[in-house]
Amino acid sequence: MIARRAVLAGAGALVCVPAGRRAQAKLPPIAMERHERAMRAAIAQGKRNAFYPFGAVIVRADSGAVMAEGVNNSSANPILHGEIACMNDYVARNGSTGWSDCVLYTTAEPCPMCMSALAWARIGGVVFGTSIASLKRFGIDQIDIPSRAVVDAAPFFTGTLLGGVLEKETDQLFRDRRKG
Ligand SMILES: [Zn+2]
Repeated sequence: MIARRAVLAGAGALVCVPAGRRAQAKLPPIAMERHERAMRAAIAQGKRNAFYPFGAVIVRADSGAVMAEGVNNSSANPILHGEIACMNDYVARNGSTGWSDCVLYTTAEPCPMCMSALAWARIGGVVFGTSIASLKRFGIDQIDIPSRAVVDAAPFFTGTLLGGVLEKETDQLFRDRRKG
């Protein structure tokens, strides 16, 4: 009985922490239709790189206005993943302000480098299509740390994280990418 109570208490604590942190997020609720529209814009960015179709856009959570876009350009610079390229475009166009009012949409789950950069920016939300597990299945090298693990290790970050949006379409993008 003692062991069982301990397990239940542990589970309760795990549930409480993210719920409490989500309550601090300032974003208005976003309809799935709006998520899908923004993800389609990220997919359009991804299609600009036939080999590594990692595309991203940053939109205002309130209006859905596209504030920045980017696609993987790691052949030019290894840190230019789609999310980093998009964050650079955001700063060039908008300055480094207003992050918490924005959501980044990306065709695949952010790697630990990108998720850390997004946490440091204190972006309001991150939405992805294909999971890291699926990228590995499609034969794309991955550092095997889920974006949720980075978020859980960054207590200062109060943004939301949502995966699997238009996953069938983004999975197809990675499955059918050009290979060499
Ligand atoms: Zn990355």
